[in-house]
Amino acid sequence: MRRKTSIARLFLYPVFFFVVSALCAGCATLSSPGTIPAYSIKGTVYYPLISLCESRGVELKYDTLINTVYLNKDSKRITLRAGDEIILVNDSAMHLDAPVDFHYGTVVVPRQFKEQVFDILFPLSVSAQRKTVKEKIKLKKIIIDPGHGGKDPGAIGKRGLREKDVNLDIAMRLNDLLRAEGVRTVLTRSSDRFIPLPTRVSITNKSDADLFVSLHANANRSRSLNGFEVYYVSPSVSDLKRAHDAARNVPLHLKNSVFARRSQDLESIVWDMIYASNRAESIDLAYSLCRGIGSAVDVSILGVKGARYQVLRGANIPAVLVEVGFVSNPGEERLLRSGAYRQRLAEGILEGLRRYSQDMSLVEVSER
Ligand SMILES: [Zn+2]
Repeated sequence: MRRKTSIARLFLYPVFFFVVSALCAGCATLSSPGTIPAYSIKGTVYYPLISLCESRGVELKYDTLINTVYLNKDSKRITLRAGDEIILVNDSAMHLDAPVDFHYGTVVVPRQFKEQVFDILFPLSVSAQRKTVKEKIKLKKIIIDPGHGGKDPGAIGKRGLREKDVNLDIAMRLNDLLRAEGVRTVLTRSSDRFIPLPTRVSITNKSDADLFVSLHANANRSRSLNGFEVYYVSPSVSDLKRAHDAARNVPLHLKNSVFARRSQDLESIVWDMIYASNRAESIDLAYSLCRGIGSAVDVSILGVKGARYQVLRGANIPAVLVEVGFVSNPGEERLLRSGAYRQRLAEGILEGLRRYSQDMSLVEVSER
């Protein structure tokens, strides 16, 4: 969040801002944000950057070490840093009225950025979006890991919704969707059974799966907290804030569990598997799932998060953990109880896997 700019560069910002403003004056009214959520922070309207990028097919890369986001599409580039009003548009500096910010762990941008920079640089193309959605999934085999089960209920909502049931139902729906696409799947459990930790690990290690998706639901002391988030494991020691956030969330998440001790072991095994996997691919996978789920449901996007956990052993495949929502939030507990909503979550995850699979096929071609 530090701000360090030379006087000479600062002098250039108003000039560039003027150019962009003049450009805007000649533009027609831009399309409405549609289902993109908006937040009011200190009187300024903000949008989650990931949702904007998703709506326009803009590639987003986030460097957690320096809190910097790189946007890229058709050789047009924007660089932003959380906490800064200064952004780079195709390497030219621009000064925003309000800083780029963090909201519930995801990078958010002020309305001015959306309307005066993003919408102009990356106009909406409906046909391009449709094309993306129709693409066939190219992954061959996926492990779906519904968290908890049997004597371990996971988190429990105020009205009695059990995390293990939510996880399993979404997993079964996702399983059906993937099989309909011709993708082979392995479920670590397909019924309300307690699966010992070594079994989950060996299921993963014995399979020749392309990736691992663990499904969980969240709980927090703050009943107002809601939304979904996707975790990958970050080995970065500099990323202390995120690590701290995640470490704080997980014990709270387990607090409501009857078998808290056992759950904690379970969580750490899941995290071990994630940690041991290819980090870069896991980050790509996490972003793809976040975008996919964000396009399917209209709730808060808490974003993609990294967390540090001890490495023991695990699967050598990209792996993420999806927290589909908070059973501790009354509104979200109601949503998560609904089959229709669980179906939308499963479809969102499928969409995310599809996007990831497209990116991966490009990588494979360039490697061989
Ligand atoms: Zn859980």
